Amino acid sequence: MSDKTYAQWQAYCQALVSQQRIEGRAFINGGYRQAQSGRSFDCINPANGEVIAQIAECDEADVEMAVSAARQSFESGVWRNQSPKVRKETLIKLAALMEANQTELAALETLDMGKPISESFHVDVPGSADVIRWHGEAIDKIYDEVAPTQDDVLATITREPIGVVAAITPWNFPLWLACWKIGPALAAGNSVVLKPSEKSSLTAIFLARLASEAGIPDGVFNVVPGFGHTVGKALGLHMQVDCLAFTGSTRTARTLLEYAGQSNMKRVWLEAGGKNPNIIFADCPDLDKAARSAASGCFYNQGEVCVAGTRLLVERSIHDEFVQKVVEASRYFKPGDPLDPATNMGALVDKQHQGNVLQYIQWGQQGGATLALGGEAALDADKGAFVEPTIFTGVNNQMRIAREEIFGPVMAVIPFDDEQQAIQIANDTDYGLGAALWTGNLSRAHKLAKQLRAGSVWINNYNDGDMTVPFGGFKQSGNGRDKSLHALDKYTELKTTWIQL
Ligand code: ADP
Repeated sequence: MSDKTYAQWQAYCQALVSQQRIEGRAFINGGYRQAQSGRSFDCINPANGEVIAQIAECDEADVEMAVSAARQSFESGVWRNQSPKVRKETLIKLAALMEANQTELAALETLDMGKPISESFHVDVPGSADVIRWHGEAIDKIYDEVAPTQDDVLATITREPIGVVAAITPWNFPLWLACWKIGPALAAGNSVVLKPSEKSSLTAIFLARLASEAGIPDGVFNVVPGFGHTVGKALGLHMQVDCLAFTGSTRTARTLLEYAGQSNMKRVWLEAGGKNPNIIFADCPDLDKAARSAASGCFYNQGEVCVAGTRLLVERSIHDEFVQKVVEASRYFKPGDPLDPATNMGALVDKQHQGNVLQYIQWGQQGGATLALGGEAALDADKGAFVEPTIFTGVNNQMRIAREEIFGPVMAVIPFDDEQQAIQIANDTDYGLGAALWTGNLSRAHKLAKQLRAGSVWINNYNDGDMTVPFGGFKQSGNGRDKSLHALDKYTELKTTWIQL
């Protein structure tokens, strides 16, 4: 499958939209269906304001149908009682189908939420397929345990699927983050109801058909599009949902914990954002590399990344020199038409979010921070949701732009004087998702990595990693971990069987 030119992507997407080939219905119990209410809402391309599809506006009735299908499929054992080998082969087939449909999935992702097509095509879709394949390949290589008991007892500790998993996902990496949840959940033998963000439902809806083609039985994987306060709430409160797996805002994360308390104490796994420090010490071995990494660590995916390095902490002795380098490196990110393969910064997810980000920029200026780069809406500001890469200097850690997750292309540069102050500022946040530090001093790196209160710490890189390492947060960034075998902890129960011999 080859890549396309700008004109070819435009023509391809134009055809998808004009021929009304974009599927927007829910997928329940093995088939596409409209919302039972008959209602739908517009799916809008944030790069130009065009309506590209209609999305089924599901509600409690549709959730009821999907959860009941998931529950029945779980109880019947049609998937969970398949051997791990069969589940493995099915998921590997799904990954292959995703790759075979790379062009359409990439086009849908970009049209839906504005990210550059080169990233959707080369990063998001292959990355998502890799997640599914990785969890598929792993599942028939995991052994259970025998406890070291006395001789007249055999005690086994086994993992069992938890039941019906509801995955509630955000709009910044719609396909990828859905796969982080459904990969291990399905591999472990659960039945799943996926609720994609109302701002980016298309790839999840498409994925459901591929899962069915791959051989996932009816009812085992359902997709229910709609709004958080209806579909999300109904899933959160449902007595037949055993587990909620969520990525999104801290506000919604708190609400999901309440839903669980008000209903059946379902397991609630949360990834709820960050305000991540990227610390540059004067003994950093390569300031140019650190500057390029700081820029991409903040502006990649339009800054719509929970683990973006939005607080850049710079040792005062190199502050001015380093800021200059970061500003230069950040000019590389130029808002452009997401369908142009040359574009490296697309549109924000919608006009409303663009307004929120611009509001934060205004607060930054009013609060006394200095704009070193950007600060404005970009391109076709009337119809498209573009914002320039923006850098503030002169920030202190109490300012709003240093404390709240903006989820857009806004960096706050904060100077520090010594190690202790750097760690104090870095940890002075409600969040704890990621943190990075740059130093040529190995013992300083080890010592400080331990002191940083974050689920991932990067030394002399920003946000590198792969499927072999877990991802998730300390503090109000959430609980539980996606990726790696640790992800299975979320989707399995441990059972002890004590056998008197
Ligand atoms: P963002 O502000 O970044 O869109 P949200 O937390 O609002 O983040 O959205 C993440 C996901 O949570 C979306 O799928 C959204 O529909 C869902 N959601 C929002 N509000 C609720 C809610 N009250 N109950 C359940 N899910 C919700």
